[in-house]
Amino acid sequence: MASIFSRIVAGEIPSYKIAENDKFFAFLDINPMAKGHTLVIPKHEVDYIFDIDDTTLAEMTVFAKQVAEAIKKAIPCQRVGVMVLGMEVPHAHIHLIPIVKESDMLLSNPKLKLEAPEFEEIAHAIKFYL
Ligand code: AMP
Repeated sequence: MASIFSRIVAGEIPSYKIAENDKFFAFLDINPMAKGHTLVIPKHEVDYIFDIDDTTLAEMTVFAKQVAEAIKKAIPCQRVGVMVLGMEVPHAHIHLIPIVKESDMLLSNPKLKLEAPEFEEIAHAIKFYL
């Protein structure tokens, strides 16, 4: 069965898209740790990130870097934190999280509750810099 992220790529489930090319897709995390929290995924479904072949993983990192640079410009932050977990969704993804301090990356932090217009505004702001 296709992962929820494959269904997002296919357009079967809505998302706040940030960027895409033929191999990768970036969209806002629906339970963000910070405004601008973005997920970068390969379109081809692979569960564990280090099962991705070397060339694709390198390309995915460069794609994530471009998205992170746009996030950094659009969202006031010190830097964009990078995290890989994959404990919830078995489709490899890189979390890009704007942070101002180390504790902004703590998984125990309460997630933000944002309404659709705010997600749309954030996505629009990030896309401006891509
Ligand atoms: P993990 O697999 O532990 O890295 O966490 C999966 C992440 O995917 C969590 O941060 C979720 O909030 C996020 N997530 C799950 N479903 C969706 C969705 N439909 N749209 C956007 N983000 C999602």
